[in-house]
Amino acid sequence: MSFYEVLRARAGRAAGLIASAAETDVLRALSEENPNEAAFRALLSPAAVPRLETMARRAGELTARHFGRTVSLYAPLYLGNYCENECVYCGFRHSGAMERRKLSYAEVEEEGRALADSGIRHALLLTGESRVQTPVKYIGACAGILKERFGSVSVEVYPLEAAEYAELVRAGADGLTLYQETYDETLYARLHRAGPKRDFRYRLDAPERACRGGMRAVGVGALLGLADFRREVFFAGLHADYLQRAYPAAEISVSLPRFRPQGVGFAPGARVSNRDLVQAMTALRLFLPRAGITVSTREPAALRRNLVGLGVTRMSAGSRTGVGGYAAEEKSPGQFSVADSSGVEEVKAMIRKRGFHPVMKDWQTF
Ligand code: SF4
Repeated sequence: MSFYEVLRARAGRAAGLIASAAETDVLRALSEENPNEAAFRALLSPAAVPRLETMARRAGELTARHFGRTVSLYAPLYLGNYCENECVYCGFRHSGAMERRKLSYAEVEEEGRALADSGIRHALLLTGESRVQTPVKYIGACAGILKERFGSVSVEVYPLEAAEYAELVRAGADGLTLYQETYDETLYARLHRAGPKRDFRYRLDAPERACRGGMRAVGVGALLGLADFRREVFFAGLHADYLQRAYPAAEISVSLPRFRPQGVGFAPGARVSNRDLVQAMTALRLFLPRAGITVSTREPAALRRNLVGLGVTRMSAGSRTGVGGYAAEEKSPGQFSVADSSGVEEVKAMIRKRGFHPVMKDWQTF
C-alpha cells in the first residue's frame, strides 16, 4: 500500500476522530509502551491538553533514551530563488515581484566558506522550485563543492525522481527535507495555484523516492498554520511511520515549521499556539520514539529554549534565508522572516545551559 492510499483511507475521518477522543483514550494512550495510530490521535486531541506535563516528561525520557542529551545543529544555504510555482503564501512565487538570482559556483564556494566559518558543519541547500534555472546537475555540483567543507549536505528542493536523488547522493548530498505543506488534498489544490507543485501525489511520494534513491536521512513535515495542526501532525507522523517501516536503514525525521510572515499578505487559515506546538512535538515523540524532530529559526529564541528536552533533536542556527546571505549582507529578500536571530555560538550556549550537548557534526560523507 502506498502512503497516498494510507492517507486517502483516513482523510475523511481523521479530524473527527481526533476531535472526539475522550480522556479515557488519552489515559490509555499514555499507559501504552508503543502507542499505535489510535493512541497517536488521542495524544493530539484537545482531550490530551490537560496531560501535557505528563506527555512532556515522557517525551523527554524517550528522546534521552534514543538520542542522548544532544541537539544537532545545521543551517540553510539558499542557492537560488527562481520558482515556477504559485504558492499563495510564499514571496518566492513565480509572479512575485522580486530580484531573482542564483549563486555561481564561485559564490557557492564563498558562501560555504562563510557558513563554515560560523562553526556549522551540516548544511541544508535550498532553491525555489525551478528545474530550468536550478537543474539537478547544478544542485549536484553545488553539493559537490560544499561536501569539502561540511560533514553532511542535505537538500530541500523540488521533488525529484528516484534516479535523480541517486545522482545527488553520488554528487555528495546525503539527506532530503521535503514538506508536503498540507496533507489536505483539497486545500492543497487551493493554495498551489499553478506550476508543477500542483501535483499533490508526486510531492507526497517524493520522500519515498528519496529513500529508494539512497538518501541516508529523509525529513517530512507540514507547514503548520495552513490547516488544523492536529490533523496535519497526525498525517506527518503517519508519513514518517510509513517511511520508517518501509526503509529501516534510513534516518527519518519530522519538521514542525509554523507559518511565518513572507510579505505577501497571506493570512494563515489556522492559529497554532506555543502550547499547540508542544503538544504536537510531544505526541510525535511518543508515537515515533526513534524519529528525529527538527525545529528551525522560524521559532523565537525563548520558545526554542523551552523546547530543548521535549523531543527536539535538530535545530537550525544562525540562519539566513536570502540567496547569498552568509558571505555578504543579504543580497535578496529571505523566503521567510527568521524569528530567532541568535548566532551559532549563542545557540550552542543556550543548549548547554539547558543541560544538553550541541552537536556540530554527527556524519561525514566521503
Ligand atoms: S513555497 Fe517553494 S515552491 Fe512555493 S512559491 Fe515558495 S519557493 Fe516556490
